[in-house]
Amino acid sequence: MSVDAFVGLGSNLEDPTAQLARAISELAALPDTEFVAQSPFYASRPVGPQDQPDFVNGAAWLRTRLAPEALLDQLQAIEQAHGRQRLRHWGPRTLDLDLLLYGRERIDSDRLTVPHPELANRDFVLQPLLDLAPELTLPDGRALAALRANCPDNRLRLLPPLPQTPGTSG
Ligand code: AMP
Repeated sequence: MSVDAFVGLGSNLEDPTAQLARAISELAALPDTEFVAQSPFYASRPVGPQDQPDFVNGAAWLRTRLAPEALLDQLQAIEQAHGRQRLRHWGPRTLDLDLLLYGRERIDSDRLTVPHPELANRDFVLQPLLDLAPELTLPDGRALAALRANCPDNRLRLLPPLPQTPGTSG
């Protein structure tokens, strides 16, 4: 059985747009997983410490037969392959991949909280999700569009489209 899963991507080091474009290709190559669509990319002001570059953010829509923790393993392997550095909490990073939604499931384990706990407060997460699926709701029924209308402003800027990544759509 396949489940629709949404992954959030973020980077603010070492050519963030290229980091995200490469990560999209890597997500498209995951085992037991179909790549449905990618969102446009946005630039946003960082949350937390302001003495760091702006972030580039986006989202990917996957249809997967991987269990949630197996999918998290894959996301963390991609982060590591990008030489992920994480110098401090809410600090700069080369690539951050978050499992935002996994079907309609609510997960609260040692390794995973799904829906991602910050999803509802972050325009740079909500907007790319809405670009992919305007009618999307959380498992508790809240509409993402309503959350987006009420969340803090991180000065999102839509970035120009990239050339189509081979093997992906959207
Ligand atoms: P961060 O680097 O801030 O993204 O945090 C990474 C840690 O968050 C890892 O230890 C994960 O096990 C944990 N985590 C909890 N829920 C999630 C989620 N929904 N997506 C990604 N990582 C998660």
